[in-house]
Amino acid sequence: MTVTGGHGLVGRRVVAMLRDHSPAEIFSFSSKQYDLTRQADVARMFADQRPDIVIHLAARVGGIGANRDNPGRFFYENAIMGIELMEQARRNGVEKYVQVGTVCAYPKFARVPFSEAELWDGYPEETNAPYGIAKKALLVQAQAYRAQYGFNAIYLLPTNIYGPGDNFDPSSSHVIPALIRKCVEAGEQGEPTITVWGTGTPTREFLYVDDAANAIILATERYDKPGPVNVGSSEEISIKDLVDRIVTLTGYRGRVLWDATKPDGQPRRKLNAERARREFGFTAQVDFTQGLRRTIEWYLSDGVHLASTAA
Ligand code: NAP
Repeated sequence: MTVTGGHGLVGRRVVAMLRDHSPAEIFSFSSKQYDLTRQADVARMFADQRPDIVIHLAARVGGIGANRDNPGRFFYENAIMGIELMEQARRNGVEKYVQVGTVCAYPKFARVPFSEAELWDGYPEETNAPYGIAKKALLVQAQAYRAQYGFNAIYLLPTNIYGPGDNFDPSSSHVIPALIRKCVEAGEQGEPTITVWGTGTPTREFLYVDDAANAIILATERYDKPGPVNVGSSEEISIKDLVDRIVTLTGYRGRVLWDATKPDGQPRRKLNAERARREFGFTAQVDFTQGLRRTIEWYLSDGVHLASTAA
C-alpha cells in the first residue's frame, strides 16, 4: 500500500494507524524522493512500490493567505498530482484508490449543513476556489474512471483538520495553528493586543487529525461507491468563538483586534456527516476543546515553538 503525503499532518497519522493494525507493507515518502507533479517520478514511484492500494493525501495546502497569494500554484500542483497519479494507478492495476478532497470544493453559499448532493450547486468561495476546484476535478476523474474502466476510486471531502503535527509557519498555516502561535508569541512578548484577520463572524467546522485518519482508513476498508463522502465533526463554531477559546487555552491576557480589511473566506461551514456514518461507520470522537489542548501542548512541548522562534 502507498500513502502519498505520508509525512504531512494527516498522512503521518494515517501511516502510523495503518502500521498499528495492518501487517501489509506501507510506503510513504517525501516530495524530494518522488515529486508527484512530475510524470516520470510518478512512474518511478509505481515501479518501485507496486502498490495494490493508494491513499492520495499529497497536496499543496494552506490558509486563506497562502491560497490568495498562490492561486496558480495551488490549482496546478493539486490538479496535476491527482490526475497523473490516478491515471498511472489505473494503468498499474491498483485495486483501490482513495482520493482525499476538501470542504473548499463546496459552493460559497452552500446550504448548511453541506450535503454531498449539493456539491455542484454553485462556485466556491473565491480565495480557495482554485484549490477547491482542482480537487473537485479529481472527483469527476474518479467517477469517469469507475464508469469507463471499472476502477475502484473513492472520494472523501474532509472539513478543516487540525492537531499535533500541524504546520505553524505563518506564511502557510491554517487558522488554528496561526492563532495558537499568535497568542503564544504575543503572551511571551507582553503585547497588549493581537490582530486577527476578518470580522470573526464566519463559521468553521474542525476535525481532529486522529478522527480524520480514522475516517480515511475506515473508508479505505469499507467504502466502494462513486459518491463523494463528507468527513467532519458536524460542530459549527464562529471564528470569534474559536479565537476566544484559543485565547483562554493559551492564557493570553491581551485584547483581540479584528482587521476587517482582510478576507473572511467562506461565510459558513458545517458538513452533513450522515453518509460517512451510514456507509462506513465513521463518527468523530475527539472533543474540540480537548483536541485544541493537545495541539497547544504539542506546539509548546515538541520544540516546534522554540525552533520557530529561533529561526
Ligand atoms: P500537509 O500537512 O501539507 O501535507 C501534504 C503532504 O503532501 C506533505 O507531506 C508533502 O510532502 C506532500 N506533497 C506536497 N507536494 C508534493 C509533491 N509535489 N510530491 C510529493 N508529495 C508532495 O497536508 P495535510 O493537511 O496533511 O493534508 C492532507 C490531505 O488532506 C490533502 O489532500 C488536503 O487537501 C486534505 N485536506 C486537508 C485539510 C486540512 O485542514 N489540513 C482539510 C481538508 C482536506 P513534503 O513535505 O515532503 O513536500
